[in-house]
Amino acid sequence: MLIGAHVSPAGGVQKTIERGVERHCEAIQIFNQSPRTWRGSTYDEEQVAAFKQARAASPVKAVLIHAIYLLNCASEDREIREKSLASLVSSLRAGEQIGASAVVLHPGTAKTGDAKTAIARAGATIREALAESESCPLHLENTAGAGGTLGRTIDELAELLEASGDDRRLGICLDSCHLYASGYDIRTPAGADALADEVQRKLGRGRLGSLHLNDSSGGLGSNRDRHANIGAGELGEKGCAAFLGAPKFQRLPCVLETPGEKGTGASGEEVLLARRLHDRGVRGRTRSARSGAVRREKRAPRR
Ligand SMILES: [Zn+2]
Ligand SMILES: [Zn+2]
Repeated sequence: MLIGAHVSPAGGVQKTIERGVERHCEAIQIFNQSPRTWRGSTYDEEQVAAFKQARAASPVKAVLIHAIYLLNCASEDREIREKSLASLVSSLRAGEQIGASAVVLHPGTAKTGDAKTAIARAGATIREALAESESCPLHLENTAGAGGTLGRTIDELAELLEASGDDRRLGICLDSCHLYASGYDIRTPAGADALADEVQRKLGRGRLGSLHLNDSSGGLGSNRDRHANIGAGELGEKGCAAFLGAPKFQRLPCVLETPGEKGTGASGEEVLLARRLHDRGVRGRTRSARSGAVRREKRAPRR
């Protein structure tokens, strides 16, 4: 697992690598444009060259771009959908420029009408964005389930993938806080592994592409999207370790989107804590697998 954090792109995309290195990241996530304005942007050649050079010399092995939160591919308002499409296309193109692992997208929200119609609208926008870009993968992120947000369950993510044309560039990003808030109890190895199994069963092998590790201030099934620092929420250190240790998650990039001690995002210490919890979660699995094997041996009939 490549563990890291969301980092600021202030001063240009090339600066994001050093921010990642300072925070002990093997994966980073960035916004490719100001999260408060619609105007999309791609990078100039100089920025891309400086970024690639910095990245090659660093331990940062995976880069995710998060599409900005203004986007709503499922909006009832055509103008919002068009703006969302343009912004998503520019994120995908920026991802292609810098060799991003994926663009992560909140699939959308519907204020009125049924989920099916909203999923169809989101799917149409996403299909168009894929058609207008070349190669960058797109990961649809599960949501905490507040209001009319789409993607609150694995079944709904499956419907979104289908509505988006089941393109091979499509994948899924799972956020631990959103999972918990939408009712998936991932605080134990059994709970986290059951979720991973459900994802594989319903979405197919290889669809799960990235993870967000956030603790949750909101309760199980509360539908509240409130990120807490690792260990400071309802998941706790133990719950985070259980989530990170799931065998099916081990090849994925995983970034923290926590507020941090100072409200400026995850610190290097928090990334290191996440890595320790990951190791603990993995060790917990091998230990329980071993004791399971011992129990089975004992139960075996004697000849
Ligand atoms: Zn997230
Ligand atoms: Zn969130």
